[in-house]
Amino acid sequence: MKQQENQPAALPPCPVYKKCGGCQLQNLSYDRQLAHKQAVVRRTCGRFGKVRPIIGMQNPYYYRNKVQAAFAVDRRGKLLSGVYQSGTRRVVPVDSCQLEDRLADAIIVWVRHALPSFHLTAYDPHTRRGFLRHVLVKRGFQSGQVMVVLVTGSPVFPSKGAFLQALLAAFPAITTVVQNVNGGPTGLVLGRQEKVLFGPGYITDTLCGLQFRISPASFYQVNPVQTEVLYATAMRYADLKPADRVLDAYCGVGTIGLVAARDCGFVTGVELNPAAVANARANATANGIRNARFVCGDAGDFMRDLAAAGETPDVVFMDPPRAGSSKAFLQSLCALAPRRVVYISCNPETLARDLFILTDGGYTVHQIQPVDMFPHTEHVETVVLMAKTERKKS
Ligand code: SAH
Repeated sequence: MKQQENQPAALPPCPVYKKCGGCQLQNLSYDRQLAHKQAVVRRTCGRFGKVRPIIGMQNPYYYRNKVQAAFAVDRRGKLLSGVYQSGTRRVVPVDSCQLEDRLADAIIVWVRHALPSFHLTAYDPHTRRGFLRHVLVKRGFQSGQVMVVLVTGSPVFPSKGAFLQALLAAFPAITTVVQNVNGGPTGLVLGRQEKVLFGPGYITDTLCGLQFRISPASFYQVNPVQTEVLYATAMRYADLKPADRVLDAYCGVGTIGLVAARDCGFVTGVELNPAAVANARANATANGIRNARFVCGDAGDFMRDLAAAGETPDVVFMDPPRAGSSKAFLQSLCALAPRRVVYISCNPETLARDLFILTDGGYTVHQIQPVDMFPHTEHVETVVLMAKTERKKS
């Protein structure tokens, strides 16, 4: 196990471990968590080759740069902030979480304590009365910028000026405050209407040497420290050449493709979510990257079109959601036969299923590297390098 020395002492067990349900592995020491994840990847993917020792986190605590808390009033009228009990709409009070950025937690607790002095309370979606539904905090770990999003049930914000002044005085690190209005029944945290109350309405952060603009709704990796480890591994495996044409499939906001663009000829990203595609294009522009384009669509359809046109990329990165890739994508990939495929997976089960198809279709697995992106949870990320199977000359 690549377990780092100087690992900080384990924290005491979390008091809401059971009710929250977010940390499925908290009952195990960090070393044991890593051993467990290693075993999961070995069980599912070990038949394709040797599984390298999982890369754990040096300090597996307080790594989340995005924190959100739900607000509610309990039956005795007490104001609560925390997380929804797993599978319910009941708020479990949480003041500090071992995964979350500590400044973000402190801001949320401050807001809860401050609300009554401004005659504000939590919003109740049933009666449609009250004020605050959620607080979302995002922090750029490299830039130090902090965004606070106050999600309210209606656009009315009584004592807005005084509240803001007190919040900014208590936390001078805050660089922007946004009010997001969500009067809808439930479900999503953020509504559509947004008012910037202070600062630019977004933060920027640096990841792998690139600048990313992070707005309240935009996707950004929640553990930037391990994301850099993951992407560095993926880039090493890709072994890009200056003239390479690269495909970044399931590209999200374009992070992998934009990192790759520095070392290759041209990158095409494909992604289903139009908002993420817009973010990816903006990220390319902001970083002065001209050799990348982003296409909105289904990765499988896109691959089929490429195969029909006979346009073979040299290297393919694929980072599908938990459900894995599609048959259409994998079959077209095999037909196109790029030199290398780097598969980044957040689900070892679907990874194994897809590796069967790819190894059947002419690929050999060369590396299997698990990375612990989410300590204390059951999630495990794996990077797999594949190359075209060398045919023996007969
Ligand atoms: N590579 C990105 C995001 C990976 S998450 C990163 O590293 O940040 C998986 C992404 O696949 C999501 O953005 C999701 O919207 C997208 N996606 C899901 N199904 C898809 C499909 N059929 N075709 C293309 N993209 C898809």
